[in-house]
Amino acid sequence: LQPLEEVDPEVFQAIEEEKRRQEEKLVLIASENFASRAVMAAQGSVLTNKYAEGYPGKRYYGGCELVDVVEELAIERAKALFGAEHANVQPHSGTQANFAVYFALLKPGDVIMGMDLAHGGHLTHGSPVNMSGVYFRFVPYGVRRDTGTIDYDEVAELARRHRPKLIITGASSYPREIDFARFAAIAREVGAKLMADIAHIAGLVAAGLHQSPVPYADVVTSTTHKTLRGPRGGLILCKKEYGPLIDKAVFPGTQGGPLMHVIAAKAVAFKEALQPEFKEYQRRVVENAKALAEALKEYGFELVSGGTDNHMVLVDLRNKGITGAEAEARLYEVGLVVNKNVVPFDTQPPRITSGIRLGTPAVTTRGLGPEEMRAIATAIHYALDYRGEARYQEKARAIVRELCRSYPLYREG
Ligand code: PLP
Repeated sequence: LQPLEEVDPEVFQAIEEEKRRQEEKLVLIASENFASRAVMAAQGSVLTNKYAEGYPGKRYYGGCELVDVVEELAIERAKALFGAEHANVQPHSGTQANFAVYFALLKPGDVIMGMDLAHGGHLTHGSPVNMSGVYFRFVPYGVRRDTGTIDYDEVAELARRHRPKLIITGASSYPREIDFARFAAIAREVGAKLMADIAHIAGLVAAGLHQSPVPYADVVTSTTHKTLRGPRGGLILCKKEYGPLIDKAVFPGTQGGPLMHVIAAKAVAFKEALQPEFKEYQRRVVENAKALAEALKEYGFELVSGGTDNHMVLVDLRNKGITGAEAEARLYEVGLVVNKNVVPFDTQPPRITSGIRLGTPAVTTRGLGPEEMRAIATAIHYALDYRGEARYQEKARAIVRELCRSYPLYREG
């Protein structure tokens, strides 16, 4: 049992350099965060060695008495955190969680409704390039051109016309609060089931800063690694009546052995999320997003929907004459990590795009506050509005360097 640096110096080296990259750049990717040392310790533990097909008390392998303890803890904490009747903590990812729900509730060829990928939805909500769009008949809904917010009247009208089996709500790049109660009323009216995918906003929901879909949706899916700040993974919450169906759809329906080390890390993350500090963290995430949005607007950046209610800001760069792809590259040059993103009614192809998506979960974990958000907006202004002027690029780089130095990552050691 030699250490990693001796067994595999190449991988060791890449990890060390990645550590430095995370330390020396500012992550503004809305779907990324920094898990705690405790979460990473659980994930890097001996539990990776254990097979545990089945569920606590009902396994297909011997020697599961301790992983049972871990999975029970994860389940009970997830239920407590979200006020849910049933939790399945085994999905390997958000995608796996969604596919398990489809396997549980749908037959191939069924009609599903979801948010258009080009308007902020996720690939797994019915995109033609994803299995969800191949196996089901997808009816997309979107946002209004004038407000950039979900057109609930359109959702209702499409639901009446197409009679979907399942309506999916939730998004990957939507900066405004989602009215889950309204979606539930639409679903009820047309006899559809409602799935809410809270992958992005799970931390906000857990902290009571965003309406919870748990009372309204038949099933709620999530990732555990975004605002929730756990290990990479998925989660399904549902009403008790759907519990057996959902469990069967995860295993044996769509997965084999659960990743017990990841489930342990989920249990730790849920415990962390149940603490009062987590609520305060989420409050700062939202406060920072608003501060960043306001500061960007002062520099003439146009925001989809004009602002934000959550952890992200979607910038429409068309008035700046720069594409999302170029902006992403230029910002990386000065140490800001963002992703290019389609904006509603985009005129550029998906690999170019007209926008960038910015999020505050990771920088808030590092400890940055509203004042630092204004400094980041200034760095973005220098990097993009003065592109081609080396002096301004260096000024932007200096802002980022100073913020990284003042707010070290994993500061405890
Ligand atoms: N659902 C939404 C809304 C997401 O934004 C994402 C992640 O990008 C997923 C599901 C998929 O999660 P994963 O990348 O873990 O498969």
